Amino acid sequence: MTTVDYDAVVIGAGFGGIYMLRKLRDELGLTVRGYDRAHGVGGTWYWNRYPGALSDTEAFVYRYSFDQDLLQEYDWSTRYLRQPDILAYLEHVVDRFDLRKDIQLGTGVTAAAFDEDTHTWTITTDRGETVTATYLVTALGLLSKVNIPDIPGLDSFEGEILHTGAWPDEHDLRGKRVGVMGVGSSGQQVISAVAPEAGHLTVFMRTPQYCVPSGDRPLTPDEVEPVKRNFGAIWEQVRGSAVAFGFEESTVPAMSVSEEERQRVFQENWDIGGGFRFMFGTFSDIATDPRANEAAAAFIRAKIKEIVKDPETARILTPTDLYARRPLCSNHYYETFNRDNVSVADLRTHPVVEATPAGLKTGDGKLHELDVLILATGFDAVDGNYLALDLRGRGGRTINEAWRDAPASYLGITTAGFPNMFMILGPNGPFTNLPPSIEAQVEGIARPVGESRARGAAVEPSAEAQRAWTETCHAIADATLFPKVDSWIFGANIPGKTRTVMFYMGGLANYRAQLADVERDGYPGFDFTPVPDRART
Ligand code: FAD
Ligand code: NAP
Repeated sequence: MTTVDYDAVVIGAGFGGIYMLRKLRDELGLTVRGYDRAHGVGGTWYWNRYPGALSDTEAFVYRYSFDQDLLQEYDWSTRYLRQPDILAYLEHVVDRFDLRKDIQLGTGVTAAAFDEDTHTWTITTDRGETVTATYLVTALGLLSKVNIPDIPGLDSFEGEILHTGAWPDEHDLRGKRVGVMGVGSSGQQVISAVAPEAGHLTVFMRTPQYCVPSGDRPLTPDEVEPVKRNFGAIWEQVRGSAVAFGFEESTVPAMSVSEEERQRVFQENWDIGGGFRFMFGTFSDIATDPRANEAAAAFIRAKIKEIVKDPETARILTPTDLYARRPLCSNHYYETFNRDNVSVADLRTHPVVEATPAGLKTGDGKLHELDVLILATGFDAVDGNYLALDLRGRGGRTINEAWRDAPASYLGITTAGFPNMFMILGPNGPFTNLPPSIEAQVEGIARPVGESRARGAAVEPSAEAQRAWTETCHAIADATLFPKVDSWIFGANIPGKTRTVMFYMGGLANYRAQLADVERDGYPGFDFTPVPDRART
């Protein structure tokens, strides 16, 4: 009998890894070791400490629902959650369930290999340790590996370079000449937060983005209490919805109502705030019908014209393509460009040509002198952290080889050729508010793990099941407008990366139903191979 050090190793201590550890250890009774290269738990919320970092999911559904006492006892006091609040929450969860002792922080996993003779995983860390485990769960984060743009001469820049996704504890931007590159969610938040304290802020913008107000505001205990009392119905609604953001998605096509009614609905939702609400709560077809999409886009464009005082700045900030990236929201984003100390460099007309010791030089020959350059340039999303690992499945085949054409999965939680390995937020998982999907995945992983232990067999998806799931994800994405625009959702933000579908866009309710069907029907699509030399499972 082969002895393993742990029944399971979980890599990553964000929302996904924390709940997975709890589930495997406390409900399945496994011995588990968690690892994170960060020096604290929290994942996204450990790393993204930039000024203005905020959830764009409302506080009442950006949390776990698996524990009723936790839901009732943990408070919130703003409509959206600030980064320190989410970090404090996740730290509380880790302490509440006594998980900290089983997580080794400050430890990057560098390699993991499956041994076909013993059906065990051997995991190697950057501290030179090697441990073995029967199961490997990768909760590596889908927006975790930062994207550093390839700017000639960047190393020569003598100021400070910061990335929003790897923000240091200490920073002082007061009075400094700050540049922000990127206007996605991170860029918009950091721009709005930094502008009031910077001496001058230059925004380096390549593609303008549609943004609606977030509607963030303080909440009184009288607003929070009824939500807590109603949590049963709220979570039922979330799990039965598509995007899981805690609002009712519209069932009304935009063109089925009059122009006047359309404007009224857009205005109402603009006033309430929230990016997903604006895209999915106004009308049912903003993300699928070009005419509906254009109506929403035109509404936002008109708002930009109204808000931004300088017509040339307004022109630069106005998007012209489809409204089909992850929908954004931010309070005061467009208003920030009315400040005297904020300017925008339009990289569409004059791209950055190089960095110099003093700043960034653009194609018009202008040197933008900077003390600090903030890269809000996003992430090598979804598979980035996977491809950076020396991860080997059957026959020593690496994940890079297995995913050479495109990252692939069965149900977003397993990938063919990698037995006893499970992924949280790996490729082709749900495109939603993420904690409810993470919970569905953790529960959807625990079931085949339990089944594999009961059968004394390693579990992995069949290549055929993976192919079918991939086709499903492509078909659903192709029925939307999202693939028509380049963004990280399709891996289209990283030069040289293969553009492909990386999400199941069929909604959380359908996703949960598929996971439930798989369990009910005896795990179709999964192969169970008896363990030749049984380990401690
Ligand atoms: P993460 O929180 O990313 O955790 C992954 C962890 O794995 C990291 O700590 C990383 O250090 C670790 N890791 C990776 N590779 C290794 C390795 N080889 N060895 C050791 N450790 C490793 N989603 C929403 O639904 N709503 C929001 O409002 C929202 N806001 C966001 C705001 C920001 C600024 C960002 C960047 C993302 C946001 N997201 C939001 C997405 C967010 O990432 C998820 O909601 C969620 O936090 C992901 O949790 P996770 O555990 O899957 O991954
Ligand atoms: P992002 O959406 O990928 O945006 C990256 C920005 O950097 C884009 O404006 C991009 O321009 C620009 N950029 C990248 N490389 C560049 C280059 N070489 N030159 C010039 N510009 C460059 O990344 P993000 O803003 O970090 O957001 C990623 C995701 O994280 C979000 O979609 C969301 O899911 C999550 N997030 C959520 C929140 C929240 O509101 N709660 C906050 C932050 C992040 P192009 O568009 O031209 O490529």
